[in-house]
Amino acid sequence: MEHVLCLLHTDADGAVPQPAREAVTTALRLATELGGAALAIGVIGAGAAAAADQLAGTGVERFVAVDGPDFASSRYATDAAAAAAIARATEATVIVGPATARFARTLPGVARRLGGRIDTQVTGLAVDAGRVIAERWYYRQRIVTKASRTTRPWLLTLAPGIASPWQGEPGQANAERLAVELSAAEQRTRVVGIEQASSGAAQTIRPDADLLLVAGAGWTKKQADGQPHVADAARLVLGFLERTRASLGSSKSLVDQSAEGGAVMPFMTHLNQVGQTGSTPRHPKGLATCCHGEEPHVVGWRFIRERRAINLDPSCGWARGKADVLYVADAFEVMAKVNALLDGAS
Ligand SMILES: Cc1cc2nc3c(=O)[nH]c(=O)nc-3n(C[C@H](O)[C@H](O)[C@H](O)COP(=O)(O)OP(=O)(O)OC[C@H]3O[C@@H](n4cnc5c(N)ncnc54)[C@H](O)[C@@H]3O)c2cc1C
Repeated sequence: MEHVLCLLHTDADGAVPQPAREAVTTALRLATELGGAALAIGVIGAGAAAAADQLAGTGVERFVAVDGPDFASSRYATDAAAAAAIARATEATVIVGPATARFARTLPGVARRLGGRIDTQVTGLAVDAGRVIAERWYYRQRIVTKASRTTRPWLLTLAPGIASPWQGEPGQANAERLAVELSAAEQRTRVVGIEQASSGAAQTIRPDADLLLVAGAGWTKKQADGQPHVADAARLVLGFLERTRASLGSSKSLVDQSAEGGAVMPFMTHLNQVGQTGSTPRHPKGLATCCHGEEPHVVGWRFIRERRAINLDPSCGWARGKADVLYVADAFEVMAKVNALLDGAS
């Protein structure tokens, strides 16, 4: 019988972040599909025991917390020690956690310490004849595999967006506080602060946003009056992002123009590029503007569930089954109107 451990960490405010709640949803389902396998939730971080209370409504019997200021920051040595201690205390055989940056750098090492194996960025978990099956994409999201392992413990980090975040009433989780002895060496690294990028793509890429706005090269092309209107385009796109907190994606053509020194949107970099040679972001909804919808671009939309596009061309790629809705319209006019509506104007 499997012992499932849902391993989580708190965020800077001591709360349970959204990817962690998504992992809870998957772990609950997994334990049920395994015929009621033992399920424990482990939480690492400052305020971990209180964070466990936020998940009391899951009905999970066992909560284990590694709490305290030593575990407040993302630090490999202390996070790995805490995760390994929780895994041992719960005798976990299958360990699922969110593929956050904090766990991405910690859990592979934990798998090694426990003599187990890890699969990262898993996009689906199922149970078939009592075996756990993990779905994962390879080769820049072009090949999907389904695989199982016999080695235990088996650690799996779950890609964001593959499950709805668990919602429920907080309560008394009565988490066991696990004491983890730390050596001086394990506490040597000190996190003195977190510096946000002050400008550029980092501020426009928001993995947790509900909406992805993609800007294509059409924004820089000559428009009906025979002139390009790049400054207007930048104002409309940034204005939409400021109002909605959407994440910004781009086509390759647009970001290549910026690399070649063309007059383009100054906040756009290759980090924004979505597609075969770009990223494969995960957002519930996507809106493509002035982007043709060619396959090497749209392949990056694999995980965008609701897709809409605005294009002057009724024969563009989006019209050929790549979008749910195509607005055949001038994106300059549409986005100006949308921004005005967002401001409450009519
Ligand atoms: C090996 C390989 C890998 C690639 N990888 C990627 C990748 O990772 N990502 C990627 O994006 N591409 C990639 N490409 C390139 C891809 O094939 C396309 O060339 C690119 O996506 C086109 O970008 P675009 O749609 O923004 O520009 P364009 O093809 O120039 O399309 C601009 C669109 O804007 C529309 N438009 C213009 N003005 C307006 C307006 N006022 N209102 C509304 N619509 C308007 C036009 O009708 C047109 O459809 C790759 C290609 C290859 C060969």
